[in-house]
Amino acid sequence: MIVSTATLGKIIWVIGIIAWYFIRVPFERRAKRVRIVSDRRSAVDMFGLGSGLLGLAVIPAIYVATGFPSEADHATNVFGVILGAATFAFALWFFRRTHKELGRNWSITLEIRDKHELISGGPYAFVRHPMYTSFMLMGLGQAFLLPNWVAGLAGLAGFAVLFFLRVGKEERMMLEIFGPQYSDYMNRTKRLVPYLY
Ligand code: SAH
Repeated sequence: MIVSTATLGKIIWVIGIIAWYFIRVPFERRAKRVRIVSDRRSAVDMFGLGSGLLGLAVIPAIYVATGFPSEADHATNVFGVILGAATFAFALWFFRRTHKELGRNWSITLEIRDKHELISGGPYAFVRHPMYTSFMLMGLGQAFLLPNWVAGLAGLAGFAVLFFLRVGKEERMMLEIFGPQYSDYMNRTKRLVPYLY
């Protein structure tokens, strides 16, 4: 091979994270035009977002660019890289689907937008937090793609901090706004993984 398996994994991760950015930007632009009627932004949620960003982007980017922390490097093989690439690709596809479905109701933090609608179709029919499922899958892909215990597992750790700090509050907010409509929806769906959790 022209490049080592480890390098290949890093290249695929970089392509994946750039693709992630280009999927998100247009939705972010459109969402900015929709008025926010209730902003539940909190310091705790900002900390969660920061942890997600650190684990899924900053720490792995530093690793790819500098090799730090090389003490935590471990062996890899081509199957790990293939599995990582497939998981990451599926996560990106799913991430795009959730954005398309959520449309103008999307927010980076906990907010209710003007004429907010409860979405329960498409990926939202399988789980109630499919966008967070896509973050978890990106973290899993990262763990397989980057042969380093710290940089590889940082994504899943950052996702977990973001998710567990937010999910209870998000569901309480949705219950407050949509009442029985949301509690019915909760009874029909799991949070992240169909049938499991
Ligand atoms: N937790 C969802 C959405 C993440 S974006 C997911 O993982 O796919 C966060 C914003 O989406 C929240 O501020 C809330 O206003 C909105 N939201 C969450 N679930 C929603 C739903 N089922 N329908 C409409 N908006 C929702």
